[in-house]
Amino acid sequence: MSQQRNLVLAIDQGTTGSRALVVDRDGRILGTSYREFRQSFPEPGWVEHDAEEIWASVRDTTSEALTAAGAPPERLAAIGITNQRETTVVWDRASGRPLAPAIVWQDRRTSERCQELTRLGHGPGIRSRTGLVLDPYFSGTKLEWLLNGNPGWRERAASGDLAFGTIDSWLIFRLTGSRVHATDHTNASRTMLYSLETGDWDPWLCELFGVPGAMLPDVRNSSGDFGVTDPELFGAEVPILGVAGDQQAALFGQGCWERGEAKNTYGTGSFLLLHTGKERGPDVEGVLTTSACDRRGGRAFAYEGAVLVAGAAIQWLRDGLGLLEDAADSESMARSVESAEGVVFVPALTGLGTPWWEPDARGTIVGLTRGTRKEHLVRAALEAMAYSTVDALQAMTTSPDLDLQSLKADGGAAANDWLMQFQADVLGVSVRRPAATELTALGVAGLAGLKAGVWAEPEEFLAARGSEDQFGPDPQGSTMRQAGVRGWRRAVRTAIHWAEIEDAEQGKP
Ligand code: ADP
Repeated sequence: MSQQRNLVLAIDQGTTGSRALVVDRDGRILGTSYREFRQSFPEPGWVEHDAEEIWASVRDTTSEALTAAGAPPERLAAIGITNQRETTVVWDRASGRPLAPAIVWQDRRTSERCQELTRLGHGPGIRSRTGLVLDPYFSGTKLEWLLNGNPGWRERAASGDLAFGTIDSWLIFRLTGSRVHATDHTNASRTMLYSLETGDWDPWLCELFGVPGAMLPDVRNSSGDFGVTDPELFGAEVPILGVAGDQQAALFGQGCWERGEAKNTYGTGSFLLLHTGKERGPDVEGVLTTSACDRRGGRAFAYEGAVLVAGAAIQWLRDGLGLLEDAADSESMARSVESAEGVVFVPALTGLGTPWWEPDARGTIVGLTRGTRKEHLVRAALEAMAYSTVDALQAMTTSPDLDLQSLKADGGAAANDWLMQFQADVLGVSVRRPAATELTALGVAGLAGLKAGVWAEPEEFLAARGSEDQFGPDPQGSTMRQAGVRGWRRAVRTAIHWAEIEDAEQGKP
């Protein structure tokens, strides 16, 4: 029994660090390891990683997690990889060496190019093919920037010498000893080179960005065959059977596999994904359309929204203003007052995301009186997380059958019971929070383990993931809900107006 191949190794390669966990079929985490790596900011707005250092962090954390679990690699049925999305790597196939620093999703160096493409009228063509908006966030203009800046690369790429990939592809290439160059639909859908319609690379987009098809990875299902690890690595060949971008892995891990199911991750910012089923829905203003997984890790679709500042508002009240010592204290502070007493805090500290997309908006606090105390401000920051979620969800629920039955919650700030209850009250639906943390890593463990047969059915995986806390909406809450949302929207308009007045004064359009 002890030598059965029934464990899954999940690799969660994030923006600040890499985590590896060994999971058994009962959903228990047997061993884990985490390592941070360097962030480089060589110029204002630029963010780079060293792909070699990322690989080293993955190699080290995987072997440490195996040691911590006391599990020999022969017991691994599968590996799953989830990763920071959009980050762009180019490497030499023969040497396996990256040729330039990885350009991270946060990097804004291609802002001007995106503006130019917009002026040239390419926005709608890109939107209809990819479901994305023209923004430096995605890989397309980053890869174009690398190919333009390095003479000879296009020719070498066209002859098959150079490879492009997001972090998943890069790790697969290294894990398989340079034998497999592949990605999955969820990661591919963030590159701006991939067509949601065909589920493959799009010739028109490749032409637009000057990307030779020969450098692109093969696109596979998230529960799929991504080769086996180089035996030199763990001393055993382990199949890689699950790959998904971080948000889509969390969506899968939350059991959101069907149309109308949604999750929100309450972290520094928050990411909301609403599953739209096997068919791509109509594009919605201010919302991205993206690839997601069905119940077996096949190709499906989701709407995605981003709230740029969520838990970070609590961080700012803590570190910037010193109003609390620990983010967790926000819960008792919010409970200690009856209401925010008219105070509304729009934490647009880095602009506003879905559905407003107003980069010039800034944090705005309205409704202050002589009676305002720090508890009111802290409560207003938590309320803002919930109201932003309402805004993003309302933008997405364009069709009556997308009406939510419940919202699944995860991320650091989801630990706050008061926030979860308030969210349920203002949404008017239940909020469900799994007891398990690490939903992203567990999600990709599920995708890999289903393919390997560790779990025969997706429900078995979900049951292994454990229980959930449920927060039901206050049945009498609808008046409070409407008044709260109205006040919030008024404050958001104020924040946007403030930016618009400034633009007008400076003669900007
Ligand atoms: P990320 O993965 O984005 O780094 P996490 O999911 O770890 O973030 O969540 C951390 C964020 O959540 C921080 O911004 C912190 O202020 C906030 N946070 C953590 N615990 C709580 C809590 N109990 N109540 C409210 N906010 C919290």
